[in-house]
Amino acid sequence: MDKDQLKKLDVTLEQEEKNLTDQLNRIANKNPLVKGDFEVRVPSYGDEDDENTQESVDLDRNFAMAQELESKLNSVRKTREKIKMGTYGKCDNCGSEIPQERLKAMPEAHKCITCAI
Ligand SMILES: [Zn+2]
Repeated sequence: MDKDQLKKLDVTLEQEEKNLTDQLNRIANKNPLVKGDFEVRVPSYGDEDDENTQESVDLDRNFAMAQELESKLNSVRKTREKIKMGTYGKCDNCGSEIPQERLKAMPEAHKCITCAI
């Protein structure tokens, strides 16, 4: 991948990082002690039974969503870090080049196909 392509990818990833952070901020608070960690806010709709039920349904859903968003966010950050360090496209595990086709399909791939299995 040449410099221009990497720059474009970084801009895309920056946008994605913002989107993911926005989504996370809607349902969770940043953990001030751990970077990249978010604590899901407990919803409070009221004290009625149906409100309590809805609270726990939404809390469960938000937990799952936050976990997914967090892992995506960390992956995006890691990818941007690799672009900055000039190691983008190299396998984290064995250091070999990840094939272009794989990167195209999955720009945030951190491992080559052999190591990912
Ligand atoms: Zn590898």
